[in-house]
Amino acid sequence: MTAPPLLQLRDLSVDFSTDMGIVHAVDRVSFDIGTDEIVALVGESGSGKSVIAQAIMGLLGVGGAGRNARTSGQLRFRGRDGAAIDLLTLDAEERRRLRGRDIGMVFQEPMTALNPVLTVGEQIAELLRVHAGLTRAQAAAEAVARLAEVGIAAPAERAKSYPHQMSGGMRQRVLIAIAMACQPLLLIADEPTTALDVTVQAQILELMRTLKRRTRMSVLFITHDFGIVAELADRVVVLYAGRMVEEGSATDIFASPRHPYTEGLLGAVPRLDLASDTIGAVAILPGTAPDPLAFPAGCRFHPRCTHARPGLCDGKAPAMTALAGARRFACHVRASA
Ligand code: SF4
Repeated sequence: MTAPPLLQLRDLSVDFSTDMGIVHAVDRVSFDIGTDEIVALVGESGSGKSVIAQAIMGLLGVGGAGRNARTSGQLRFRGRDGAAIDLLTLDAEERRRLRGRDIGMVFQEPMTALNPVLTVGEQIAELLRVHAGLTRAQAAAEAVARLAEVGIAAPAERAKSYPHQMSGGMRQRVLIAIAMACQPLLLIADEPTTALDVTVQAQILELMRTLKRRTRMSVLFITHDFGIVAELADRVVVLYAGRMVEEGSATDIFASPRHPYTEGLLGAVPRLDLASDTIGAVAILPGTAPDPLAFPAGCRFHPRCTHARPGLCDGKAPAMTALAGARRFACHVRASA
């Protein structure tokens, strides 16, 4: 019997009220994250992928633009006791307890996520004291072990460093150590390698793969880069302008994308299997992502879609079409092909 999903998103919607009007940042998004599974959430900037991460982490109500967020739907999370809870119904204290203990998060820019006035050792130790109940001495020793686990050389020395004394790649390793400190069931990684150079990026991806194999945690990996998806993901969810447009196993999506937007994103990944004069050729998606205050009617991708049919695609939003192998896509034209 297959294990029930760790997290089920059901009709998750997030609206922001702004001075300019209502932004429907996420529109009825539904997918599962299984145990021991890496799900890649893929889309351009403004597709709603980071908003989904913030909704899961319970960060939408915390300051800034989040104060005006309205969230609906369900986020059913299966805790360590096997019981499912809807994350959207938790109060602030319950969410805070869950964050760091059961759900960890790694951000794109570690400098803003780390506390600049505490050493990295103190930051890891603090989490271990709060969530795992360790004494001060135990937490300090454990923090050094956690730094070693994420591949930081001379961890006892490094534990005494402040974030600004470390390189970008090392800071990202520290952030991963913090996110993993309490061995979470789910790790959310929001573009964790975007700010890093290619070599360090590869090292961080390898580290995440190793940690995932060791701990069997689930990962929601947020990215705009299908190259990273190919390296890491078991399953892929593609978002466009706040809506899901395709879902399937990474193998199926790479072999035969069904949605024109997924095809466009895949076309933007350099292909090493092409003839030498076209290696690195990159197909560019035409146009730009739409203004969230004025999403197009019908299929939101229609102004950029080379397959769009006037009178069809600009009228009604396409429903999801289900295929074998838990694949789904939302496209009028491909559904009838
Ligand atoms: Fe393109 Fe129409 Fe399909 Fe949207 S529904 S992706 S506009 S063909």
